Amino acid sequence: MDVIVIGGGIVGVATAYQLRAAGHRVCVVERHATVAQGATYGHGGIVLPTPLDAWFGPTFLDPRRGARSGVVYRPGLSSSARRFAKRLAQWQASEAFRAQWLRLRPLVELSREAIASIEAGFHLEFEQTAGILHVMRHPREWEQAQSAFDLLREFETHHHVLSAAECADIEHSIPAEPTFAGGVMFEQERTANCPLFTKLVKQVLDEQGGVQFVFGRAVEAIRLESHRAAVELAPPEGERTHTREVDVMSCDAVVVAAGAGSAPLLERLGLSLPLHAVRMLSLTAPIAYEECAPHLTVVDSVRRVSMTRMNQRIRVAGAAVLQPDRELAKPLAEPLLEAGTALLAQATHDWVPGAAKISAAHAWEGQRLLSPDGLPVVGQAIHPRLFVNVGHGPAGWGLACGSAKVVADLISGATPLVPPETLAALRAERFAS
Ligand SMILES: Cc1cc2nc3c(=O)[nH]c(=O)nc-3n(C[C@H](O)[C@H](O)[C@H](O)COP(=O)(O)OP(=O)(O)OC[C@H]3O[C@@H](n4cnc5c(N)ncnc54)[C@H](O)[C@@H]3O)c2cc1C
Repeated sequence: MDVIVIGGGIVGVATAYQLRAAGHRVCVVERHATVAQGATYGHGGIVLPTPLDAWFGPTFLDPRRGARSGVVYRPGLSSSARRFAKRLAQWQASEAFRAQWLRLRPLVELSREAIASIEAGFHLEFEQTAGILHVMRHPREWEQAQSAFDLLREFETHHHVLSAAECADIEHSIPAEPTFAGGVMFEQERTANCPLFTKLVKQVLDEQGGVQFVFGRAVEAIRLESHRAAVELAPPEGERTHTREVDVMSCDAVVVAAGAGSAPLLERLGLSLPLHAVRMLSLTAPIAYEECAPHLTVVDSVRRVSMTRMNQRIRVAGAAVLQPDRELAKPLAEPLLEAGTALLAQATHDWVPGAAKISAAHAWEGQRLLSPDGLPVVGQAIHPRLFVNVGHGPAGWGLACGSAKVVADLISGATPLVPPETLAALRAERFAS
């Protein structure tokens, strides 16, 4: 089949890879000049989520607790963002959380296999480092995370629960004083460079052939007919619109993997998904003092800030900015940017003091799409020729390679390698009722 994938982030590129592997001809349309320029660019580095990373779980960013939970903006009572956060918070209760994690877990495991297969098949090096240490400051946060600990035990996820002193022993950059509740060490989970991985996969596709990349063009609309589908392209930047005819590319199926740009395209087709774009910040700072730099990735579990060493720099990512939808199209207001940067700087100061030269950091902000039940939206939607692969939240890389495989299997008419309950929980139709 001829398939058009809209979006050249990790999700679009992974989808193109899996479609090509299944024998389809693929065209990726990306409005930027190259791949990995959206949310994928500012990735915090964590490859696969554990129950402690789950954004719908017990350590979820509760906006009512403000900066203490890693949120830098409290939307007003009436805003859509607040309603959205309330819906997401429903999954924090331990039974609900467990049930939702059971649905998500097969996708995480499929992703693990898919990444490993690409990595080994093409000998890719993308700054992979093993070892992630989650730390928690207060005993009540430790208590709150118990249902995530239960899941780690239930699924025999390789981990060690550590006291504060053991955390400081295992990771010299963490100060033993003031003391804190403790930590969980995942020695086999990894961090790596997602934009680099995305570019390497694109390079593999360029070498293999069968995938065309159209850069610098935005898709304006999708056409769906019984025998064919097509996308309409906006004129290239700088060209006069009234002298041009609309460029149309036709295909057998369209996959929307356009990150935060997906909603307008789908809404024009009548598919309105209750996804919310959340801004997240990252700081990339040079190492200040080598002797203070962490050799493990340190994650402040409750404030949701990851501190990842990437060669001679540290990437600090987190600081979710929850805003009403109407503010998302505007640049981030300076006070919010400052508040977010301060939150990331504080986490760095608390957990890895002296490691990063924050005054010389490069700040970046990106939007990630989150669904109100925490799961991405993956599969066929509203028309036999339309597929979606969106809403991966803060675990886009982790889930992208698995969700790409699910989409490729569905387009090929093969049975996806996740259980039917997971497949049903990922479908766009779950929001219909
Ligand atoms: C600061 C930060 C830290 C993060 N840390 C982690 C982490 O540690 N681990 C993890 O797993 N995830 C993390 N995430 C989330 C992860 O980065 C995202 O979930 C993931 O990158 C989403 O990939 P995507 O391809 O869907 O979106 P994007 O990377 O945004 O790609 C979508 C692409 O579609 C293009 N596009 C949009 N509309 C159109 C259109 N109409 N026509 C053509 N092209 C279009 C855009 O230009 C863009 O390139 C983080 C996110 C942020 C912002």
